[in-house]
Amino acid sequence: MLKIYNSLAREKQEFVPIEPGKVRMYVCGMTVYDYFHIGNARTLTVFDMVYRWLKVVGYDVKFVRNITDVDDKIIERANRNGETIAQLTERMIAALHEDGERLGILLPTVEPRATRHIDNMLSLIGQLVEKGKAYPADNGDVYYAVREFPGYGRLSGKSIDDLRSGERVAVDQHKRDPLDFVLWKAAKPNEPHWCSCYGEGRPGWHIECSAMSRAELGDTIDIHGGGWDLQFPHHENEIAQSEGASDKPFVNYWMHAAFLNMDSQKMSKSLGNVFTTREILAKLDPVQGGEVVRYFLLRGHYRSEINYTWDTLQDARASLLAIYTALRDVPPAEVALDWSNPFAARFKAAMDDDFGTPQAVAVLHELRGEVQRTRSAELAGVMKALGGCIGLLQADPAAFVQGAAQGDDAVEIDAMVVARNAAKKARNFAEADRLRDELKARGIVLEDGAQGTTWRRA
Ligand code: AMP
Ligand code: ZN
Repeated sequence: MLKIYNSLAREKQEFVPIEPGKVRMYVCGMTVYDYFHIGNARTLTVFDMVYRWLKVVGYDVKFVRNITDVDDKIIERANRNGETIAQLTERMIAALHEDGERLGILLPTVEPRATRHIDNMLSLIGQLVEKGKAYPADNGDVYYAVREFPGYGRLSGKSIDDLRSGERVAVDQHKRDPLDFVLWKAAKPNEPHWCSCYGEGRPGWHIECSAMSRAELGDTIDIHGGGWDLQFPHHENEIAQSEGASDKPFVNYWMHAAFLNMDSQKMSKSLGNVFTTREILAKLDPVQGGEVVRYFLLRGHYRSEINYTWDTLQDARASLLAIYTALRDVPPAEVALDWSNPFAARFKAAMDDDFGTPQAVAVLHELRGEVQRTRSAELAGVMKALGGCIGLLQADPAAFVQGAAQGDDAVEIDAMVVARNAAKKARNFAEADRLRDELKARGIVLEDGAQGTTWRRA
């Protein structure tokens, strides 16, 4: 039985879907004004892992992850770059898919874009206005009246009055209450806008998710996810909008991924420590990099903060290479996963306990030890299949361990390895050792195995 920590209930609960065998899951996606950073990569990877595991245990999952393709940051960046909003967002969506694929992040079932759901947002706003939960202000904006929604603050565990004093919300003469938030923004000159009965304008950020979630998944969904920072105000506001309109519960299980920090500091533009996933991948071996980052991100539990440093990433690489080396040395048999296998059973128990990836990865390492000891192709097959449940270990092991030819010296290195083997065979050990030392000096490690000698960069 799968258990999930529900941020709203503040405890682990048994997962019972609305409809047996089916899961409706919504995750707040990216605002596409730039390449996604390594913190975004964490949240994307965590929910990819959740999506994969739900499928592994047999659910038919409809996974919706939205794209925010209109917002202040996008407008500002497009203007600064001298390109249109569509040019910028199309470019960034393509990059999101490209970089995501390198990390093994599957496409969601549906990837709705905000700009294609404006009608749904306006009809939701209309319903809220009709029910007295939202009001058009005299500046052309439409606001949500938080005092009209009794459950406001439940997710973040705060009352409206705590929130008011804690958040130091700016006083705005157009709002009835400083915590009221915008559903529809009146158009400013030179900004994208749409026609509505409130005048020309564009949607606020929060209404997007309520409208797209309802359009794709209905009024009540099983799981809603996002980064930890989105609990307040974004998810609190989504609840107020969705439940305010439907009078039904919006989400049964709220899941929040903890943050990734940089060298123990918060990632922020002002500290200059924001790295895009693309930049980090460019520094890593092209064959190994994507999976190294994924492994690094999943080896911590999704509700614990993780710390990114170059050293921790290199440590993750060494750890993943150790598993791939075992798969290279003991080619895995094709196996169908049998959960009664003791390793598989422990892996599943870890994952079923609120997606315990650290324990699941520890099981992979135990298996690695067993594979090396017993040289069992069957066990190697179990290891590969278990890794596959969370999007790991599916690459060709020999190619992975060797890595890509990063420089243009790969041909030369191959030739030296061949020459060294020939020397060894001819019992010219002095020459064989000389070549091995020369390769070592160039940072090349030789590995003699059953299938001959392979090499990798140290
Ligand atoms: P944004 O584009 O800022 O709305 O972020 C997209 C997603 O990435 C949201 O789910 C955020 O919660 C998440 N996110 C942003 N920064 C980090 C971080 N440092 N660590 C983990 N997740 C993050
Ligand atoms: Zn959202």
